[in-house]
Amino acid sequence: MFYLLKSFIQMKILLNNNDLNEALYSVQNLGFVPTMGSLHKGHISLIKKSLNDCNKTIVSIFINPKQFNNKNDYKNYPKNQKKDLLILKKLKVDLVFLPKQKHIFNSKRIDKIKINKKDKIMCARYRKGHFEGVIDVMDCFTKIINPQKIFMGEKDFQQFFLVKKYIEKKYDSKIISCKTVRNNNKLALSSRNMLLTNKELNIAEQIARNLIAIKKNLSYQKNIKKFLEIKKKKFNELFNVNIEYLELRKISNLKITNQIRGSKLFVAYYLNNVRLIDNF
Ligand code: AMP
Repeated sequence: MFYLLKSFIQMKILLNNNDLNEALYSVQNLGFVPTMGSLHKGHISLIKKSLNDCNKTIVSIFINPKQFNNKNDYKNYPKNQKKDLLILKKLKVDLVFLPKQKHIFNSKRIDKIKINKKDKIMCARYRKGHFEGVIDVMDCFTKIINPQKIFMGEKDFQQFFLVKKYIEKKYDSKIISCKTVRNNNKLALSSRNMLLTNKELNIAEQIARNLIAIKKNLSYQKNIKKFLEIKKKKFNELFNVNIEYLELRKISNLKITNQIRGSKLFVAYYLNNVRLIDNF
């Protein structure tokens, strides 16, 4: 009955903080899914989890300029608001927040986000200022939305790891991780995949399938770090890509490890000008 009633209630679109405060007044058990739009099945899985676990769900669409360390990457980031809103309406999301930069980053803000030296690994090493920008926007969102739960994808594991550490220390909100959604050829869905040609898409799929096989067979290797260095070079030559890192790291603290148990294989690479990341 509740579900039936819910299907008749319209999705609210919130354009600024006043809209937000009004809509959130007396809402309890709120789930929040932050996105940068161009929604795909990966985002949809997070939203469905929130709809299932929480009384109300708010989805934000905001391409955060602070987390882009490259102007062209920001400029070229795919945008598809009309289609996104149709998807969200179909999913029966309660609230959609479409803020402008001035609503998120208050000029009076004094918090300066700093990443620990030991966390300056993988994407934090190669994308200067990226996670500072991500944590900054998540800090602002959490302060103004005050959700019970925030749903984030394992596909961006380092992001999930750093945001969880920062937000759960400062707020009552819990960060919930959600499994990576892949296409039939094992490539992790990503808004950036839209920027790839068919040929490039095919290469990315081959890389994903190869890395899954490599992860399965890692236990036969004595020196995993050395083995991955060799694989990295081979991939660069074979697929004409530029792998930034290919590393086995512990899930609990993201330290390099030689142990398969409790670890993930992390990769970041450029295919033409498009930067893709994944973990297995
Ligand atoms: P983005 O719009 O790329 O900032 O992503 C918004 C959220 O969706 C982040 O928490 C991502 O980790 C998550 N996400 C992106 N791609 C996937 C995927 N293929 N599977 C699951 N979650 C994803």
